[in-house]
Amino acid sequence: MSKVKFYSGENVPLEMHKVRIVQKLDLVPIDRRLQAIKDAGNNTFLLRNRDIFLDMLTDSGVNAMSDQQLAAMMVADDSYAGSESYTRLEEKITEIFGTEYFLPVHQGRAAESIISKVYVTPGSYVPMNYHFTTSKAHVVVNGGMVEEYITEEGLKFNSDNPFKGNMDTVALENLIKKVGAAKIAFVRMETGTNLIGGQPHSLANLRDVSNICKKHGIKFVFDASLLADNLHFIKTREEAYKNKSIREITREISDLCDIIYFSARKLGCVRGGGICCRTKDDYMKMRELVTLYEGFLTYGGMSIREIEALTVGLDETMDENMINQGPQFIEFMVNELHNSGVPVITPAGGLGAHLNAGAFLSHIPQTQYPAGALAAALYLVGGIRGMERGSISEQRDNEGKETYANMELLRLAAPRRVFTMSQLKFVVDRVQWLYANRELIGGLKFVEEPKMLRFFFGKLEGTSDWHTKLVAKFKADFGDSL
Ligand SMILES: *Cc1c(COP(=O)(O)O)cnc(C)c1O
Repeated sequence: MSKVKFYSGENVPLEMHKVRIVQKLDLVPIDRRLQAIKDAGNNTFLLRNRDIFLDMLTDSGVNAMSDQQLAAMMVADDSYAGSESYTRLEEKITEIFGTEYFLPVHQGRAAESIISKVYVTPGSYVPMNYHFTTSKAHVVVNGGMVEEYITEEGLKFNSDNPFKGNMDTVALENLIKKVGAAKIAFVRMETGTNLIGGQPHSLANLRDVSNICKKHGIKFVFDASLLADNLHFIKTREEAYKNKSIREITREISDLCDIIYFSARKLGCVRGGGICCRTKDDYMKMRELVTLYEGFLTYGGMSIREIEALTVGLDETMDENMINQGPQFIEFMVNELHNSGVPVITPAGGLGAHLNAGAFLSHIPQTQYPAGALAAALYLVGGIRGMERGSISEQRDNEGKETYANMELLRLAAPRRVFTMSQLKFVVDRVQWLYANRELIGGLKFVEEPKMLRFFFGKLEGTSDWHTKLVAKFKADFGDSL
């Protein structure tokens, strides 16, 4: 809920910033969009920016930076070693997280690579609340096994559970009993759980997990990439923390973890990442891999300017008015859609709104990729680029058989501080129109299917000529409107 009440009683999220640099956008005519989505093989990753109106593909590396961040970039102390900019970042990390040792890396997955190389041994287990694509890949590459213990509630499309990202601690204890603590490389908790819709965990749950780790002497690793959103949810949804400051909540979280890592493409609104360690032992184990793969210890593959901007970005993340903008905008979208009957994941999480494509297009079987079809259709009718998070994002098994996703979702990411309310209303409006005309949307089939990561480069076409029919209906309803 917005902290500012309106006389009208309407619940409008209010931006606590003003826009001082803008980037021009075009909404190209629908015939051009039809050509563009065909050229892209119905894959929104292959669209070109010039054809896109609202880019809701991801929040990664595309959050708006502040004037203070841009100003800080101009005073960056560029040097290979011993940069003052790095010292400022290191001090800020200690101030915010209370951890003494820091390692910079070029982005989040680099942190995952280093942590996994150091702690995962062949045949070891890494229990987590839920996997993220890169975090799982690095555990597996190093011979480890990922065990996911998201609570049952986490995988429900619709729920009123405020903390769908919580870990099932009973399942965790059972694993420890079964295989023994020595076989567990570390326990990983992901904040603002990305792949289940940016859903938060509670601080109480984090404490339970941390206590189990302590009791058994298991290392506890925290993926803080989506911390900003989760902090907002702890403050607004967890009774015990409503009067605590964001800084106090952050510190309480951090005190429960042994290693904290993050993608600064999300946390801090720059491009980079880092690993915060509590002990010198952990730091020394990982340090040499930073110099081997990332860069010298005072930049770790990041540009010094981004380091300077990250210091400011992390500080800004401690401001409630900064971190509530994303979740409030997403909540607005989710509530508008949900209240008008559009199938969408509830409650609203961070990161973006997630349309339930399986229910939205219940007439399209999973073999014809409903989430991919919905992504293509939304681009067609609104120039809006979302990301397919369904079976196209999965991979065939070793025998070449499809493995279908648990959920067919279309993710509409809301990069922080980037879009305005009227743009979001436009998105809601076009999605509602599409829902009213959903019977016109048909399925997709692959015409080019790469073996690895097919969702990035694969090309598909309609199983019928549904694109043309959808365009005709759009023109009949909207006339010469874009
Ligand atoms: C994005 C993300 C990562 C990986 O970070 P990159 O900077 O994209 O490499 C890891 N974990 C979570 C939860 C993420 O959202």
